[in-house]
Amino acid sequence: MKTDGISTEIEIVRSRRKTLSAEIEPDGRVIVRAPLKMPMRDIEAFLAEKSAVIEKHVRRRIAENEKLSETRPFTAAEIQKMADTAMEIIPRRVEYFAELMGISYNRITIRNQKTRWGSCTSGGNLNFNCLLVMTPPEVLDSVVVHELCHRLHPNHSKAFYDAVYKVFPEYDRCDKWLKENGRLLIRRMTGE
Ligand SMILES: [Zn+2]
Repeated sequence: MKTDGISTEIEIVRSRRKTLSAEIEPDGRVIVRAPLKMPMRDIEAFLAEKSAVIEKHVRRRIAENEKLSETRPFTAAEIQKMADTAMEIIPRRVEYFAELMGISYNRITIRNQKTRWGSCTSGGNLNFNCLLVMTPPEVLDSVVVHELCHRLHPNHSKAFYDAVYKVFPEYDRCDKWLKENGRLLIRRMTGE
């Protein structure tokens, strides 16, 4: 579907819900979630009203993706900036999800890791890769939830993933994003 002002692909997904919402996918596509029987003209009116905002988000996402496709190594200044940003963002996200899940933790450390996105020690210390700030916000959240769930299950058992999906139903999509794009980011960190 094409709507005036939004130059992107729009997919409409109907379900048993009461309200309309628009989500921007990592690739810049827009998914509009709509109630089962809402008339098309109401959806179009919603899109027309929100077109400026949606367009802005789509453009930002596409620009981010273009940035991601760069291959030159990060400079030391860029890595420092990422670490600073990560230290601002990640503890807030950990606090939010830990409270939501009723989970405790100890220290949060931000590292320039070359192999992992995050880890959780048996003592409840959480480590996160500063490169996470270069990923979409929901991908960063998915790693936070993954590590916090290790406070419940120190393994990747079914029970572990059940706990992950319960808090973060979109985990698989984010995990896929990280598998597809993460290696490039890590390569830019190592300069390899
Ligand atoms: Zn794990």
